[in-house]
Amino acid sequence: MEKIIFLKYGELSTKKDNRNFFIKTLNDTIKKRLNNIEITYDFGRMFIKPTDNNYDAVIDELQHIFGIHEIVVAYKSNQREIDDINNNILELLQDKKFNTFKVEVKRSDKKYPVNSMDLRKMFGSFILKNISNLKVDVNNPDIIINIEIRANEVLIYFDSIKGLGGYPVSSLGKGILMLSGGIDSPVAGYLAIKRGVKLEALYFESPPHTSEAALDKVKALAQKLAIYNNDIKLHIINFTEIQEAIYKNLPHEYLITIMRRMMYRISAIIASRVNAKVIVNGESIGQVASQTLTSMSAINEVIKMPVIRPVACFDKLEIIDIAKKIDTYDTSILPYEDCCTIFVPDHPIINPDKNKCEEYEKLINYEDMIYKAVKAHQVINITVKQDNEFQNYL
Ligand code: ATP
Ligand code: MG
Repeated sequence: MEKIIFLKYGELSTKKDNRNFFIKTLNDTIKKRLNNIEITYDFGRMFIKPTDNNYDAVIDELQHIFGIHEIVVAYKSNQREIDDINNNILELLQDKKFNTFKVEVKRSDKKYPVNSMDLRKMFGSFILKNISNLKVDVNNPDIIINIEIRANEVLIYFDSIKGLGGYPVSSLGKGILMLSGGIDSPVAGYLAIKRGVKLEALYFESPPHTSEAALDKVKALAQKLAIYNNDIKLHIINFTEIQEAIYKNLPHEYLITIMRRMMYRISAIIASRVNAKVIVNGESIGQVASQTLTSMSAINEVIKMPVIRPVACFDKLEIIDIAKKIDTYDTSILPYEDCCTIFVPDHPIINPDKNKCEEYEKLINYEDMIYKAVKAHQVINITVKQDNEFQNYL
């Protein structure tokens, strides 16, 4: 028998016409992330063999890749006779400790001469005969013995590891993530990647009001997302001139609303330049004055591109739970200032009037400033395998 890892696709297998495309994308992602494997696939399963026998490392990596429903360590044999299967099962059970068991049979080769139900009974009674003091328990067994009869081989396995689910990265196209140094936007990014959106991140900085350390914090967060996104590009926009112009010339209660309208405009420009179809951000309904429904509507109206807000309906504690799971939380709570927090007025408006937004915006020459900011913007590539170079702020 050969020890092998195989993957179950889950939701991917419900895609009719596009199924092959999704599976191929997953295969490409895995190949890109792991260079110490042999990999093959068919419509139902993907098989992975670590060439260096380091199963744990490969499984750990697979647990960070979207599009995988379950990861299974199995034993594969091309002996498909009942007696051979029986003997292989016994061999594998030798060093397992259990009192109750259940047999599950999947017969993907429908031409196999015995049906699943009969196979289950045959394997079960063979085990009972050959190992003493065992009982069958179909409801709550100590161990489930899974046997899959395939066209050219038989797979035997016991348990499986849950994968992340979702769709393979980039299978649904590209989005621009507005990535601040906060808790919400990395979580929003993670959830968008989960649905197959390949992200490029966009950060607005306001030097000297925001520091180099604040930028490094965003890079560290981007690097965490790179794990799921297959690397990530980080666009950095210098927002200082726009922000100062707003601060100097406009009524302060509208400061945040107008600032965010500018952010949206710039995000949409960057998105269309890189052929992204959506903007993703970490807004959550009601969290702050700029995230009331009226505010969101007054801000959103300046662009046509769809804005996806994966955490819109999550409570902060729910968002924090995910942030901890994906290991962004500790970085997000570092105290470095964000460009929004510096210019926060005492009383931001919670019900901004769209006409007033337009009227106030006429007081500054924002189109020129946006043009300049976009023209001067920088892009850096953050790859998965860099050695946590932005982590020294933790
Ligand atoms: P987060 O929401 O990520 O915890 P935050 O609470 O400081 O950070 P908000 O003021 O709630 O940010 O802003 C809402 C969303 O707007 C953020 O989730 C993020 O998507 C986007 N955003 C805010 N500031 C920036 C920035 N400096 N650069 C890029 N995007 C930003
Ligand atoms: Mg927030």
